[in-house]
Amino acid sequence: MSADRFGWHSELWAAPWSRVLRRALIVGGVIFAAALIGILSRPVGFLASIWPANALLLGMLLRTPRLTSGWCWLAAFIALVLADLLTGGKWLITLWLTAANLAGVAMACWLYSHFHSVDRTLQSPLAVLHLFVFCFCGALASALVGCGASIVLFDRNIWVGLAYWFSAEMVNYITILPVILTFPLRRIAQWFQQAFAMRRVELDWLRLAPLFSLALSLGVMMAVGGSGAIALPVPALLWCALSYSLFSTMLVTLIFATIISLALARNLLPVFAHANFIDDTVSLRLGLTMLALGPLTVACINAARNKLVIQLDHAVNHDYLTDALSRATFEHRAGHALKECIAAGKPVAVLMMDLDHFKYINDHFGHRSGDLVLIEFARLVDGQLRKGDLFGRLGGEEFAVMLPGISREGALSVAERLRSMVAAHRFAGVDGKLLKATVSIGVGYLPAKQRIERERLLVRADEALYLAKNRGRNQVQIQDVQVPAAAKS
Ligand code: GH3
Ligand code: MG
Ligand code: MG
Repeated sequence: MSADRFGWHSELWAAPWSRVLRRALIVGGVIFAAALIGILSRPVGFLASIWPANALLLGMLLRTPRLTSGWCWLAAFIALVLADLLTGGKWLITLWLTAANLAGVAMACWLYSHFHSVDRTLQSPLAVLHLFVFCFCGALASALVGCGASIVLFDRNIWVGLAYWFSAEMVNYITILPVILTFPLRRIAQWFQQAFAMRRVELDWLRLAPLFSLALSLGVMMAVGGSGAIALPVPALLWCALSYSLFSTMLVTLIFATIISLALARNLLPVFAHANFIDDTVSLRLGLTMLALGPLTVACINAARNKLVIQLDHAVNHDYLTDALSRATFEHRAGHALKECIAAGKPVAVLMMDLDHFKYINDHFGHRSGDLVLIEFARLVDGQLRKGDLFGRLGGEEFAVMLPGISREGALSVAERLRSMVAAHRFAGVDGKLLKATVSIGVGYLPAKQRIERERLLVRADEALYLAKNRGRNQVQIQDVQVPAAAKS
């Protein structure tokens, strides 16, 4: 295996130093902070009860494969060693513990990179199974390397050391890794921006009900106690999984598991008789791991279902070729928009558009080139519209646009802009051939404070289009709605 596989040479020579250094510093900084949190949570005489460093490192490497270079691994190694030494660790044991930590991360990372097709965003139920198996192998690798250190450090039996280490790794991986893999960086940044712009955060208290029920169930768990108490928050966790996004559910589950782990470390859990702290701890950690799989699986299935519903919704409402609204959806939404405009006394315009001599394009350049022209035409038109405007494909090479709240001059100028833009554009056909196309546009216009049914407005636009075709094509014509004298008063 060449050294370059680890990214030493290529990063050193190809990438600027600053980029290499920046990535290594980010990884090193995050892992150093996470290791300190772990060390500070350590009960006296035991290894850390919460150890986020390994799951964080694995999550960062899986989310940003660019970080999987020798320099970032080195940075993580130095960060782990430094955190331990600065808090009183001895050299040999520090190196041993660090090797164990990194062995687990390397194993899980290798498995993920070996099975390329595995979904890392946890949007499919099978992804939970993969996560469980890969984390199991990672935790086992870590435990096998690290269990010897427990013998030296705490004079423990090797099996106890193995179980203690494995269970800690398992619960950390299963509760922390999904949070990192599903962390919606962009959405959270947008949310902060909006909250900052509005200077206050609107809280929907009803949305928080599943969270309150989880807090309540934790209280009930503490009050009831006994070996079954740990399962009492399951219904609340499942309610969270059904109500919140994948990331929010994973975050709630992590907070829940952290509270339980901290309570256990402080001997506050009324769950066990504490006849044997080690046995109880291992049992509780494994129980917590299995418990976390419940909301994780439900949230994944929910996320996959929601994604499918969005895809289906898009397929039903949009034309498959041009992505404009389908005829039925355009007419339905146009009806609603028209009613809103009439209620608000606003004007509205409908543009009926038909590509000229399109049959000629198909006959001379092929059907596929015709398709490409239609796709490009839809893209051009869509790029010119405002947020509340509607754009649909009525069939073949015929499209319609609804412009709510626009003046007569405004509607004419939009139509003219679209016409001239299409005439000036060169459409790419198959084999990169450049084609010319023109469009005729009929505008049906309803002035402010008038009323009309959707069908009649579309008919007016159609009449205007007919006029544009008859008068030589590649032009805009307008037909105002004739309001009956009786309706005017
Ligand atoms: P006019 O200027 O009068 O509108 O003439 P035209 O040739 O554009 O109109 P006509 O109705 O005679 O022909 C429309 C053509 O559009 C015929 C049809 O094969 C073609 N067409 C309809 N849907 C599609 C499509 O999805 N892809 C392609 N490539 N062609 C289509
Ligand atoms: Mg046509
Ligand atoms: Mg036509």
